[in-house]
Amino acid sequence: MNELWSEMANRTEPYQPGEQATGLDCIKLNTNENPYPPSPRVFEALQQALSSDLRKYPEADPQELRQTLADFHEVTAEQIFIGNGSDEVLAFAFMAFFSTSKPILFPKITYSFYPTYAALFNIPYTCVPLCKNFTLDVEALSKSEGGVIFPNPNAPTGIVSPLQSVERIVKENQGRVVIIDEAYIDFGGQSAISLLSSFENVLITRTMSKSRSLAGLRIGYAIGSVSMIDALNRIKNSFNSYTIDQLALTAGIASVKDEEYFKDTVQAIIRTREQSKKVFKSIGFTVLPSAANFLFVHHPEIPARQLHKILRNKQILVRHFQKPETEEWLRVTIGTDKEMELFFQQLFVAVDAWTNKSTAY
Ligand code: PMP
Repeated sequence: MNELWSEMANRTEPYQPGEQATGLDCIKLNTNENPYPPSPRVFEALQQALSSDLRKYPEADPQELRQTLADFHEVTAEQIFIGNGSDEVLAFAFMAFFSTSKPILFPKITYSFYPTYAALFNIPYTCVPLCKNFTLDVEALSKSEGGVIFPNPNAPTGIVSPLQSVERIVKENQGRVVIIDEAYIDFGGQSAISLLSSFENVLITRTMSKSRSLAGLRIGYAIGSVSMIDALNRIKNSFNSYTIDQLALTAGIASVKDEEYFKDTVQAIIRTREQSKKVFKSIGFTVLPSAANFLFVHHPEIPARQLHKILRNKQILVRHFQKPETEEWLRVTIGTDKEMELFFQQLFVAVDAWTNKSTAY
């Protein structure tokens, strides 16, 4: 207890982001970034933005980006809220829709920012265990007191829930907000956007960090009813009027307008994911059926912690979550074909050495 800190700072257990390894020449498969660069149109737009008047504040209410996203998703601009990465959008959503008196629900194995936000904002929560096959327990998530949040596809499993299951959770939680974090939906599965016309209690969050290769610019957004977006704006405008800088705004618009590049790069990642899945299986790994840009894998003999370390020593970064329920698994982001080839070369050596009880490790 630090007596100069607020009660909030004292009780906070910060989220641990994956290693960024700045300056290290490595194959980086640990934070679900896109291995391809952003659309060439983003670079052109950024050149122009750099010669614009950076002296001035950006738009507090980024109308053009809202409209561009609204056209892309076939909703209205009033149904779009933009934030500094979807992490910020999620933080605002926790403040706008969840209360300190009614517990919310989220899966036990899920994005670890949810318990962090709940603790920060004093929101009580219950973690719902996944089913045996790692899918969401739809029944249990349908009975919340204070609302629900889950990613679809889930992270770090990569498993996508069918729209029917998502709809059931939304329908049975009438009067409470259900946040569907669609950070990875472009890589597989059906979006819940179609539910917006029938249900008032849905909020969908999205990011440009993964499928649009813009993690470095921090752009996230939410799609919901006009009233939900209004609530998010009330929170944002009581916190920071200008959460999105001018360069991010310009790049975001250019990215959304280049649909062809977006589709091509997403397809390339899906192809590499399916190929990688086969290779993992061929060397004895269990691989969950991922609809995201990563695979969650387990080797029956090699402890995941050890494998993480072995690969780290070969300058290959993958993610290991040191929690009892995920301790035996590794999350591997899908890189380019070349990166995956180099990754598997090292993995083959590691598995071979371990299963032959080599003393190399
Ligand atoms: N949701 C999930 C499930 C994620 O994995 C991530 C990435 N760490 C985010 C949200 C946040 O993404 P960003 O803040 O980069 O938009």
